[in-house]
Amino acid sequence: MTKIYKKKGICIWCLKSGKETSFLTKPHTIPKKLNAHNIGFDICDECNKYFGYDNNEERIKYSIDKITKEILNVHKFLLSNKKNSNSWRNFKSQFFNYYHSENMLKFRIYYRKNIGFEEAFTKKFKRGIYNIFLQEYHRNTENGLDKQFDALRAFVRYGIGNFPLYYLKNRKGIRITEDLDMPMKFSFNQHVQNIIQQFGFYHMTLKGLNFFISVNEKAFQNIDNYLLPECKYLMGSGFVFDQLITIKRISQIDFTTQDWD
Ligand SMILES: [Zn+2]
Repeated sequence: MTKIYKKKGICIWCLKSGKETSFLTKPHTIPKKLNAHNIGFDICDECNKYFGYDNNEERIKYSIDKITKEILNVHKFLLSNKKNSNSWRNFKSQFFNYYHSENMLKFRIYYRKNIGFEEAFTKKFKRGIYNIFLQEYHRNTENGLDKQFDALRAFVRYGIGNFPLYYLKNRKGIRITEDLDMPMKFSFNQHVQNIIQQFGFYHMTLKGLNFFISVNEKAFQNIDNYLLPECKYLMGSGFVFDQLITIKRISQIDFTTQDWD
């Protein structure tokens, strides 16, 4: 028997039901190439395909999955490069150049000079982060169809509107805070769900990068009374984090490593 990947029977992205679409493709909630194995449900074949395949009709033809995995994997490369001083020789990336003496990755000048490319590329990366959020949220809670995520859906699936990506910058470049070879894990415990309901924010740690995303409209009223105090608390004395940035261009993310020892 064919396995069918649905529980509620409605796609969390396009809201189509089994009558109008199909649920036959295994939907990875986090791009597979990030060493993630979580399989979701209620993500229809058409939407699954949209996220995974390049599309020549879009300004940035590269798929959301490809861009997301590229950013997170180059970041991971930078962190693991510390372990093996020769690994950088094998570095390959379409979008980044690596400067070994500076321990730094830079978004390629070719793309930076291409007017509007970096902003559009960054928007797709943001959609990729929000995509992982809702797919994992639904996998854990089965509540991804909730109306509070309608605007998020339109942003991720159709590029409508623009959601912010807040980035908590490390004071001295990137620092390894997790076992990079472990599959990524996100928490949706009761406390986290309460914060989403009440304040609209979700805190995501991805391969040493710290992001806050605003997942519903509550977030827009709670920047001053939730996001900023929370980040101030995390920054503490400023030993680890020192700045909260709203990402507009991918090069605002610090792709430098330094010795933290
Ligand atoms: Zn769909």
